[in-house]
Amino acid sequence: MIQRTPVRIEAQLLDNQCPDDDTPTWQQILADSITCPESLLAQLGLDPASWLQGARAGHKLFPVRVPAPYLARIRPGDPEDPLLRQVMPLADEARVVDGFVRDPLEEAGATAGTGLIRKYRSRALLMITGQCAINCRYCFRRHFPYDQHRLSPQDRTAALHQLQQAPEINEVIFSGGDPLAVNDRLLARWVDNLAAIPHIKRIRIHTRLPVVIPQRVTDDLLQWLSHPGLQFVMVLHINHPAELDAPTRAALQRLTGAGVTLLNQSVILHGVNDRTDTLYQLSETLFDAGVLPYYLHTFDPVAGAHHFNVDDDRARQLVRELNALLPGFLVPRLVREIPGKSGKTPLDLNF
Ligand code: SF4
Repeated sequence: MIQRTPVRIEAQLLDNQCPDDDTPTWQQILADSITCPESLLAQLGLDPASWLQGARAGHKLFPVRVPAPYLARIRPGDPEDPLLRQVMPLADEARVVDGFVRDPLEEAGATAGTGLIRKYRSRALLMITGQCAINCRYCFRRHFPYDQHRLSPQDRTAALHQLQQAPEINEVIFSGGDPLAVNDRLLARWVDNLAAIPHIKRIRIHTRLPVVIPQRVTDDLLQWLSHPGLQFVMVLHINHPAELDAPTRAALQRLTGAGVTLLNQSVILHGVNDRTDTLYQLSETLFDAGVLPYYLHTFDPVAGAHHFNVDDDRARQLVRELNALLPGFLVPRLVREIPGKSGKTPLDLNF
């Protein structure tokens, strides 16, 4: 059953920007993303006879979405490419496996109002949009009922009111979906409104967009990220060093130049990054790009993605090996999200 509505471009969320030249805007790139298995296979020179049937089956459960800048980093003709594995639908996604569930973090019960999730005492998570720029097959929110959490203007007012009434909250986390899939006008308005609440000091943005479409780092984005009186932290989501190509590194440099603190969280994924040399290279490449490795998440057991699972012992072993190779500040913390617990739970590495 398809529970998540196929991602669509929400016209009202996009700026009506006209490019000065032939350079496509990020909105055009997003709108032109690959959204069917046939195109994905054709663009990458993969044999439809081997892959199409399974890809169509997976696509029915969670639709394909791959923007061109990300596609360009995938090695053509290689079905094992670690970036391709993150976006390629497979027949295996339909298999029911014990312990893999639709809402592994039990977020449905944590929603305090439309779009606002209160899991932590001092932080509130705002689901700005359900739209993403890329559909990651392992996403723990692949079944999340985003349609029930779409923010209307009234919801926005109600969420702001809730935040005003909660002096213990000093940080608002923009999440989704991908919050940067929303246009800069709307995001700037959120930031203006939040800046007017005295106890809010920080805005944290969880996003994959500057990585998958580096053109998303526009002048308008940098402007609202420089709002006086607020600190901005961007938590990127990068799982493999090959995701950091030259345009992405340039976009990240613009963000650090604007004073944004850049952190990264990865998920440990079988066939993508469950090797010490890959994780080592990831940390080094991130730091070269001005990003601190922050968290390495254990896999959240979401239905349809069991083939990405890496067991805890293997995860611990990988991080122990990283500890031997890297300075401490380049070793991400191995953590797990436990439903109902505020904050992430670090895993004991059993040294
Ligand atoms: S960008 Fe993030 S929220 Fe969107 S599908 Fe990927 S992991 Fe999930």
